[in-house]
Amino acid sequence: MKIFHLSAECYPVAKVGGLADVVGALPKYQNLAGLQAAVVMPYYDRKFTQENEFDVVFTAVTLLNTRRLYFEILKEKTDKLGFELFLVRIPGLLDRENVYSYPDEREQFIAFQLAFLDWISYSQQTPDVIHCHDHHSGLVPFLLYHSKLYRRLANVPTVFTIHNGQYHGAFGWEHFQYLPEVDPASTGLLDWAGGINPLAAAVKCSWLYTTVSPTYLRELTINSNGLEYLFYIERAKGHGIINGIDTEVWNPLKDPMIPSHFNTKTLAKGKQLNKEVLCTRFGLDPSKPLFTFIGRLVIEKGADLLPEAIDRTLAQYGDEVNFFILGSGDKDMELALLELKAKYPGRCNVFIGYDESLAHVVYAGADFLMMPSRVEPCGLNQLYSLRYGTMPLVRSTGGLIDSVIDFGDEGGYGIRFNQVSVDDICHAINRAAALYQNQPQLQILRKRMMALDFSWDRSAKEYINLYESLNPLI
Ligand code: ADP
Repeated sequence: MKIFHLSAECYPVAKVGGLADVVGALPKYQNLAGLQAAVVMPYYDRKFTQENEFDVVFTAVTLLNTRRLYFEILKEKTDKLGFELFLVRIPGLLDRENVYSYPDEREQFIAFQLAFLDWISYSQQTPDVIHCHDHHSGLVPFLLYHSKLYRRLANVPTVFTIHNGQYHGAFGWEHFQYLPEVDPASTGLLDWAGGINPLAAAVKCSWLYTTVSPTYLRELTINSNGLEYLFYIERAKGHGIINGIDTEVWNPLKDPMIPSHFNTKTLAKGKQLNKEVLCTRFGLDPSKPLFTFIGRLVIEKGADLLPEAIDRTLAQYGDEVNFFILGSGDKDMELALLELKAKYPGRCNVFIGYDESLAHVVYAGADFLMMPSRVEPCGLNQLYSLRYGTMPLVRSTGGLIDSVIDFGDEGGYGIRFNQVSVDDICHAINRAAALYQNQPQLQILRKRMMALDFSWDRSAKEYINLYESLNPLI
């Protein structure tokens, strides 16, 4: 079965968040299960593309309305990622450093999708499934079935996975001309709330759609930035499959990014050594519990509540706890956290920026990881922290509900709270700080966390079952 995954991100080529981790791992595990899964993504001018070798496998010109765009399809030479990697390079449009946030982002991702379709169309390829991820590839299912240009491919099944339903990539009808040779009777499929909405179009046109956790599938009918009714009426096509983690990349026994390796038997000592390295680097006290946060500093993640929760906790506990925050995003939130760092030297430190290796050390060296998310489609941070014996403190939402059981419940190993509020975060921290005093119990819980199986094997098979249901003859 030949599958093309289409995505804006893929680890280790280009990562902004969890989308990259999933697209960098799922195809690998699908290939281990006997599929031929490949990834197609835009070419970015980054470390990975500079340091690796590629063959040019196809060149052509695509049309973005009246603009002629020369493009190349590059294939990574060695397949060392565990799947074939294809990059769509469009000089002047899709060969820049960053993944998102350019003023012509709309044109970038539409051109990416058109170039992909032109490539498979002209090169006479017929994949068994085209699997699109998030709105950046959300127009592909529509174009496959409703543009005269791609009629040959109209029977190819499409699957669409929603990693984040808050972002739709919507734009005005004045840009409709970007979409070539569209059947006028089908334009309603593009529309939501008076604009062209790629996420909505993908939900309507794909053969089925998935979300990255079962709870998030239900939540989209309540909170999806205006698409609630769409998700309600299309619900028969929806499937919730929890993300896995790449246990080769995230393995505390082998992880080259952490100073000290450990397994369940050497956990106590290994974690302490990692904690010491982390605390020494950031001027914190390794003999006290260490609470951390890793992620985008945005409202969605509840990061706006962290400064007050930390301030209140440090005022209450004095020198008895440490905080370390790794993230970047909203400038006001960054500033509020930096003010805390200045106010509590030696007890709270903050690293503003993105640092993959540091994140690994934090997962390995921290005692607790805070995730006060308002919205969390799956959340990978809690899965990584569990694997490294770090207890997650999570708000009960989305994939956090599906992956974390409160240690007060049978078989539990984490801390859950219900409200997105400073009170609830502080209460969770208090419970964690009390648990820290009971080291024997904490060690038992840490072993339980590390023994959990969130590997991709199971979830990758669920996707394969879905593909097979689309075309039982494959
Ligand atoms: P989202 O995709 O919504 O940002 P996820 O929990 O699905 O959230 O995935 C976040 C991923 O990005 C994790 O792999 C996490 O470790 C990583 N990450 C987020 N912020 C940073 C950062 N500042 N430095 C390093 N890694 C980060």
